[in-house]
Amino acid sequence: MRRSRDELDKMRRAGRVVAEMHEATRAAIRPGVTTARLNEVAADVLERRGARSNFLHYHGFPAVICTSPNDMIVHGIPGARVLEEGDIISVDCGAIVEGYHGDAAYTAPVGEVSDEARRLIEVTERSLWAGIDHLVIGERLHEVGRAVQRVAEAAGYSVVREYVGHAIGTAMHESPQVPNYWPGTPGPTLKSGMVFAVEPMVNVGGYDTYVLDDGWGVMTADGSLSAHFEHTIAVTDEGPEVFTRL
Ligand code: MG
Ligand code: MG
Repeated sequence: MRRSRDELDKMRRAGRVVAEMHEATRAAIRPGVTTARLNEVAADVLERRGARSNFLHYHGFPAVICTSPNDMIVHGIPGARVLEEGDIISVDCGAIVEGYHGDAAYTAPVGEVSDEARRLIEVTERSLWAGIDHLVIGERLHEVGRAVQRVAEAAGYSVVREYVGHAIGTAMHESPQVPNYWPGTPGPTLKSGMVFAVEPMVNVGGYDTYVLDDGWGVMTADGSLSAHFEHTIAVTDEGPEVFTRL
């Protein structure tokens, strides 16, 4: 789906709200803070900006952000979990402005973390940017995942297979999907006005996952650390435009 200038402008504004949710939650991350508090901080940004949440009530999800510590990959429900020195925490945020969606995630250290945790965060973010570089007119979509996979695997890590990125617009999750690995086919040819959420999930160990009994939290099967970075990006005549950063 190709978006008009007016649609892209609304998505730019939704993306800006998501970026502000990132800024506010990042500033609140420290040992002793609960993940429920991060959710409150993000909800305050939505309220202040007059934006709606795309996460709240999504298939029954009970919060406006996902908070996924350590060996949790994605979709963690914020709650009484207290962040501790040495944890890493993945925070996924979304917003709707005038019917258009933004979606982005980051992983942050809590206080001092291990060298491995720091390296995982750095590699995962770098893999996202390597993927974003391929969101240019005429490129094939699955080159994004090939680039993500190359960065993650060169560092000795694995890329999650069961959860992927997606096109985004008037719904958070639109077709086509954006795998974070080479799926064996090149995928659609990119055109200006297409918008995608690219979101590598990278594990220190293997890529297998399981879901917690709450039906949401996705864990690494081997208990290894996992990081998650995501941006919402448009394909434009001037190259990739990242909507979800300030
Ligand atoms: Mg997300
Ligand atoms: Mg997403």
